[in-house]
Amino acid sequence: LVRLRARLAKSQGSLGRGLLSVLGRARLDDAAWEEIEDTLLAADVGVTATDELVQNLRTKLRVEGITDPELAKAALREELVRLVDPTLDRTLRSTGTDGKPGVVLVVGVNGTGKTTTVGRLARVLVAEEQTVVLGAADTFRAAAADQLQTWGERVGVPTVRGPEGGDPASVGFEAVQRGIADETDVVLVDTAGRLHTKSGLMDELGKVKRVIEKQAPVTEVLLVIDATTGQNGLTQARVFGEVVDVSGIVLTKLDGTAKGGIVIAVQRELGVPVKFVGLGEGEDDLAPFDAEEFVDALLA
Ligand code: GDP
Repeated sequence: LVRLRARLAKSQGSLGRGLLSVLGRARLDDAAWEEIEDTLLAADVGVTATDELVQNLRTKLRVEGITDPELAKAALREELVRLVDPTLDRTLRSTGTDGKPGVVLVVGVNGTGKTTTVGRLARVLVAEEQTVVLGAADTFRAAAADQLQTWGERVGVPTVRGPEGGDPASVGFEAVQRGIADETDVVLVDTAGRLHTKSGLMDELGKVKRVIEKQAPVTEVLLVIDATTGQNGLTQARVFGEVVDVSGIVLTKLDGTAKGGIVIAVQRELGVPVKFVGLGEGEDDLAPFDAEEFVDALLA
């Protein structure tokens, strides 16, 4: 939590401090509420969520006759936590069935941090004493398979890769085949994220998933989104959401943005939870996402 706070330091300036200073005022007039709205929008919370939060908070303060700034802040915290939704299941679905490995497909636009995320997830799983196989199905970016293999070596797990420019689906297939043969717990598959045409992406990702599922069900599709890209990230979420059944979000580079509210916006866009956040470039800078902890960090 301390680390999350430190990493979100940038966000505090715009969201936490901004909101708390307005709520600390003696009188919350329309101008004050507008300021609260602007602060939320500036932090990428999104229009509908901002509207909902402000409506609910205004009503609550009025109905309960709250004027004490400390109680108003507590009410704000409660509303933010509700928006982030602590009731969502954020566990990684990595448990396979019928003695087969769980298969986690990691998708997203290139540069968002997919390969890094696969490597870090492998590290987390290995620390939990699970066995892992990596599949380098991003066969288009020349360095991607090397980068993944380096992670594999560092973490001590095998990487299945194909020829550069080869068929991503067959790499996925072979990785799962290896996972089954080795009785591995989890197969993590890195994919290519070229977004130049939606139909191309759809064909490719759809095929990777279909071919893998000839052997074992895909238990989780994690979409990686770069938190620093704002609206672009939301557009990506929409496109990928149409192409594959995304079951969880990894929001990377939260350390590099003042806009932590993107967590709320992106969850709403896809209707699936943020499960992990990237908080830096280090090997262990991937943290499981916790709604209350996150809101406390925002408001610290
Ligand atoms: P890919 O093309 O989607 O596979 O992206 P990479 O995994 O190669 O990552 C792209 C860059 O983003 C690399 O320089 C990573 O170190 C960096 N990166 C990934 N996650 C984070 C994060 O949470 N915070 C920061 N600051 N950098 C990150």
